[in-house]
Amino acid sequence: MTDKDWMRQPMIEGEVRRIARQHHPHLDGLTIAVIGRPQAAKSKGKVVLAKTSVPSEATGALIQDAMGVVHYVIEVGLDAWAALTPAQRTACLDHELCHCLGVDEESGRPKLVGHDAEEFGQVIRRHGLWRPDLESFAEAVASQLERQLIRMGATGDPLGAEARGGRP
Ligand SMILES: [Zn+2]
Repeated sequence: MTDKDWMRQPMIEGEVRRIARQHHPHLDGLTIAVIGRPQAAKSKGKVVLAKTSVPSEATGALIQDAMGVVHYVIEVGLDAWAALTPAQRTACLDHELCHCLGVDEESGRPKLVGHDAEEFGQVIRRHGLWRPDLESFAEAVASQLERQLIRMGATGDPLGAEARGGRP
């Protein structure tokens, strides 16, 4: 093994199980493998911290003897991962688990779902919350900002130590 090898990440898999138990009970009993890649992928010029996929049926058959049925694979870019705080790592894995819908009853295959909302900041600045999905997304951002403002009032710390993973 060299530091160029992609390797399974048992420690991160443990974290994934913990977060799944807490926030994604519908994934109970499913196997979610985590593979570390030495260098994070890039997509459209942006670093991809992590990416979740469903193994193809061919890959599933190949790995079945070694691992049983693997429902989801989370690929983590280890160089980018190393720079994250513990709180950011938890948020990153929670994000990936949000993509996992569980097994489709009809097809028997695990399903993935896209993000709640995707938009450019400048479009929101120019046109506001022009789609219903943006509105509910903005509500989530607003409630988080409110919590940060309350923290700032309490500590005088505009970012909030908690938001940075409890580091000073
Ligand atoms: Zn995502």
